[in-house]
Amino acid sequence: MYQSIADTRNAIQSGTSACEITIHFIEKIKSNKHLNCFLEVFEESALEQAKAVDAKIKSGTQGKLAGVVIGIKDNICYKNHKVSASSKILEGFESLFTATVLQRLIDEDAIIIGRLNCDEFAMGSSNENSAFGNVLNAADNSRVPGGSSGGSAVAVQAGLCIASLGSDTGGSIRQPASFTGTYGLKPTYGALSRYGLIAYASSFDQIGTFTNSIEDAQLLFDIMNGPDEFDSTAIQQKIESTAPAIINQRKTFTVFNEYLHAEGMDPECKSFLISVLEKLESKGHIIKYESFPYLNELVPLYYVLTTAEASSNLARFDGVHYGYRNQEAVGVEDTYVKSRSIGFGKEVKRRIMAGTFVLSHGYYDAYYTKAQKVRRLVREKTNEILASSDIILMPTTPGVAFEFNSVSDPLQMYLQDIFTVHANISGNPAISLPLGKHSSGLPFGIQLMANHKDEDMLLNASKMVEDIVNAG
Ligand code: GLN
Repeated sequence: MYQSIADTRNAIQSGTSACEITIHFIEKIKSNKHLNCFLEVFEESALEQAKAVDAKIKSGTQGKLAGVVIGIKDNICYKNHKVSASSKILEGFESLFTATVLQRLIDEDAIIIGRLNCDEFAMGSSNENSAFGNVLNAADNSRVPGGSSGGSAVAVQAGLCIASLGSDTGGSIRQPASFTGTYGLKPTYGALSRYGLIAYASSFDQIGTFTNSIEDAQLLFDIMNGPDEFDSTAIQQKIESTAPAIINQRKTFTVFNEYLHAEGMDPECKSFLISVLEKLESKGHIIKYESFPYLNELVPLYYVLTTAEASSNLARFDGVHYGYRNQEAVGVEDTYVKSRSIGFGKEVKRRIMAGTFVLSHGYYDAYYTKAQKVRRLVREKTNEILASSDIILMPTTPGVAFEFNSVSDPLQMYLQDIFTVHANISGNPAISLPLGKHSSGLPFGIQLMANHKDEDMLLNASKMVEDIVNAG
């Protein structure tokens, strides 16, 4: 029931009200409380919105998303609603404005149902870093949903909303999408305004979607993308994408040898990817195998640059301006120290310290400047490859969802992002498609990456790949 935007539209056309749809989801969320996806259900404001949408439906003036119930990651601001980035440090804080992308959804009559659990300040790959507890993977409750947008992924996986928003700095949409069998789109850097997104690493962060289909990802992208005077890094023109169609035009896919044969890859995920390549080739598409020499540099480079940016972005949470303030502290300095020491969780503190270190005098050139140079090499090489190829095809994750507490070493955890950080480093759009099924019964994704601002190619190629894989 109500799996997609099209389902919702059909229901509304056949007389179901937006209120009925909203109540359906509110009840479903209540009966799935154990998954711990929602930090808060916006019951009152959602029903109010639904009533207003019903009035528009009556007069035939409803928007494209009339009655479409959407959840938002708890780092996206919605005026007069709480937002915490799943951190204690933002305790009690309410947004003073609405994120641009969210406003664009609301303007098309989407219903915003609640805020979704995530890793604290979007730092993590398993949702085990939230101050409000783990989110459970609905496919197997003993396993992680992935992170950091774990709540957003499971909300769509378990049918608790039709689509959700997440943010992806190094894989936080695509990795949980892979672990939960949902579609996770990270658009081109700057395609969607970041105004109203609580910043983690500003030159990497991008808002994106979890959906049950490519068509829904495309429609939401179309509605949300475009310039925004409140975000100077937003791309200045709207990106037009066409409805995904199965175009049997020959496409060129590049696969990186280093990615395909990466150490630690689950053998089933690897052989699935190979089988996809064979199918594409048998349909006349061109597969190019190329070398991408920077695979081992990607994760270290990502952590040097993102921690540097995070240490600066998170400096504003000082116990004075927002949220939690330690009451025992005496004086300004003590207030900063105690509020930050208690307000932030372990992983956030680790990253602030790492970021402060790489930016510090004497180390700046050795780490920060060097990482920026490697970032440019990655970007140039990626552009060069996509100049003669339509899509780069790769795994989304090295394996399937793992069990809680099974990855305790931070470096091991960071390697979960080995295939996803690439698109954030280079800024390209990328999507995880839930096409893999492991013998354990768990889903896993494959990842497609396209040229900057070419979501059109990305989504159309996705449709084509999905169709070829599903045809067997
Ligand atoms: N897992 C990565 C990290 O911990 C990515 C996070 C993200 O994309 N927000 O930084």
